[in-house]
Amino acid sequence: MRVLIISDIHANITALDTVLAEAGKYDAVWCLGDLVGYGPDPNECITRVRQLPGIQCIIGNHDMAALQQLDSDSFNPEARTAIVWTQKSLSESSRIFLQHLPEKIELADVTLAHGSPRHPVWEYLLDTRTATYSFDFFDTPLCFVGHTHLPMIFSMNNSFYAATQTVPEANKTIPTPQRAILNPGSVGQPRDHDPRAAYAIYDTDSKTWEYRRVSYDVLAVQDRMREAGLPERHIQRIAAGW
Ligand code: ZN
Repeated sequence: MRVLIISDIHANITALDTVLAEAGKYDAVWCLGDLVGYGPDPNECITRVRQLPGIQCIIGNHDMAALQQLDSDSFNPEARTAIVWTQKSLSESSRIFLQHLPEKIELADVTLAHGSPRHPVWEYLLDTRTATYSFDFFDTPLCFVGHTHLPMIFSMNNSFYAATQTVPEANKTIPTPQRAILNPGSVGQPRDHDPRAAYAIYDTDSKTWEYRRVSYDVLAVQDRMREAGLPERHIQRIAAGW
């Protein structure tokens, strides 16, 4: 089965639709949370995601904040402005969809979590130290995470008892390590100084991972963000990828 892996769409329907058009054929889609927050199209993104084939989707911290399940004081002032805008913009049906998303999903070979398998909603896996601890918190060979908006692979070689970290090469199919935590990067707000949308293709039969990048119409999204009155800093950052 060919699975499209997407994460951190952040209410950017232009980036999402570009990814869906460029991904080729896929049998299922696994979405790693943060469908909303920052961007101008929360309802459009939720409508699109819920219609995808074989969809498995978990909740992210921005989705929880949009549902007022998290104290928005823990976000910086601009993020808070965007959260309040999202809360007001969400349709009832979007809200119900987000409310039913689980924090973690365990499939045959893969666990899905937004931040980390230890603290699914909040923890950032940015270094090998945090990643090493995380390997004790999932039982499947692989775990897919988002949240950092950075494409990354942490793998665990049992003889070392410490995780190693690699940044995968774009558009290259690689065998997944025996035991690893993989991050496809962010569809709607990449933070590795490359503004192109990021996603991955996971093949459940051949056990391969291909992380990919695709350009989308950033200007169109920036126009909609300005119209919506979203913070200028968030408008700027999607063009630069930070
Ligand atoms: Zn995010």
